[in-house]
Amino acid sequence: MAVIKGKKPHVLAVPFPAQGHVKPLMKLSRQIARHGIKVTFVNIECIHEKIVAAAKMSAGDEEDGQEDDNIVLTTVPDGRSPDDDRNDSFKLLESLRNTMPGFLTGLIESINSSNGDERVSCVIADITIGWILETAEKMGAEPVVFSPPSAAALAIILHIPRLLEEGNLDSNGTIEKDEMISLSENIPAWRQNELTWSFPVDLETQKIFFECSLTIEKTIIQAKWLLSSTCYDLESAACDLIPGLLPIGPLLETKNPKSLSNSCNFHPEDASCLRWLDDKPPGSVVYVSFGSLAVLSQQQLDELALGLELSGRAFLWVVRPDLANGSRAVYPDGFLERVGELGKIVDWAPQERVLSHRSVACFLSHCGWNSTLEGLSYGVPFLCWPYFADQHHNQNYICDKWEIGVRIDLEENGIRTRHEITTKIEMLFSDGMFKENAMKVKAMCGKSVGEGGCSYKNFKTFVDHIRK
Ligand code: UDP
Repeated sequence: MAVIKGKKPHVLAVPFPAQGHVKPLMKLSRQIARHGIKVTFVNIECIHEKIVAAAKMSAGDEEDGQEDDNIVLTTVPDGRSPDDDRNDSFKLLESLRNTMPGFLTGLIESINSSNGDERVSCVIADITIGWILETAEKMGAEPVVFSPPSAAALAIILHIPRLLEEGNLDSNGTIEKDEMISLSENIPAWRQNELTWSFPVDLETQKIFFECSLTIEKTIIQAKWLLSSTCYDLESAACDLIPGLLPIGPLLETKNPKSLSNSCNFHPEDASCLRWLDDKPPGSVVYVSFGSLAVLSQQQLDELALGLELSGRAFLWVVRPDLANGSRAVYPDGFLERVGELGKIVDWAPQERVLSHRSVACFLSHCGWNSTLEGLSYGVPFLCWPYFADQHHNQNYICDKWEIGVRIDLEENGIRTRHEITTKIEMLFSDGMFKENAMKVKAMCGKSVGEGGCSYKNFKTFVDHIRK
């Protein structure tokens, strides 16, 4: 154990530079900070800039990236030159691998020397960049790994050596068309293109995910603690497959109104949608969001817009500035005029506050794991629209295991039609079973993070340890 006697513990938290990784690690950091432990949260510069700019534009009262509590936001360079394309995740990862250990060593030395009574005693690394744990150990800090996706997503990754041995995967990490992989009868089986690293529309990207997945077993062996965003009661079978896993979720945002920059949004939040929701009847609104990465083709965007219109239901739709294949959306002729007050479109929503709003009836979601956990935590049924990676498996959990949602199916041409969209919206509104089940799952999650619950106790064990 790395803690030097007489020195106060100080945690370094290092996320993978993507929205769905930065946000949950910040939620964990806030939870740690609330126990009186100082946390330095380390982003690469371009991500830090986005977060600070978004916070300023959302809140209008944030001076800089510094927090008002025990959290300090700081940066390290990503090792790339200013003109390099930061959307090239392969090159970015390669550069981070080469340069981050040096930058982190410098950062830890500087924290240790400038805070006389403190010492970086623990480094929490996102599981995708677990190789920084070697730096943590060299610097005398305890190596901790945080896994943002579901336990099932991690379990299937840890199963890769067996899948390779048995010849179930090709060199891209794809399984044969008709094969199904089952790890337990209590976990939905995986079909082709449902694996954690699956990215069927771009096999190059899939290969990077797959290679990245291959390093995770070593990371887990190296880590002294393996924290997971999941909740044991939700995924007990998957949790039981991973020795040493400590489920501490669902991690939620705090009620602190000054926590906007802590939310670590990459886009400014548009809180006007909360006032719009206030005027709608309870349980009447379809909330639509595809997270931070998924994009829609123009044809698909048109079908979705017309499907929402056809449903006649009120909707709140997050249309990121890059949702339409990287560009601003263009809507079908007359769509905005026809839906009028029935529809509200924002660039980025305060998602948890939306999901916890009484007017929200259901969540049309890409089923990213963070969005999934947030929907579960607030008792919101799902309309599932997954794209890649773990999203299909999360959909299977939602529809088949927890029975709190329905799939919006693709036609053979790869499009989800307006009729399919309205049919499924109606199905969700007309069958009370989905909401009933969602409320049971909400209660289960609440119990787990509440005093004495499983996630609560696991987190307490961890935080008591680092406080010693
Ligand atoms: N999110 C948000 N506002 C939005 C859309 C998304 O705050 O308008 C947050 C959402 O609450 C979640 C994260 O962005 O915490 C997205 O993570 P997720 O794993 O669901 O999807 P990803 O972006 O990784 O595909």
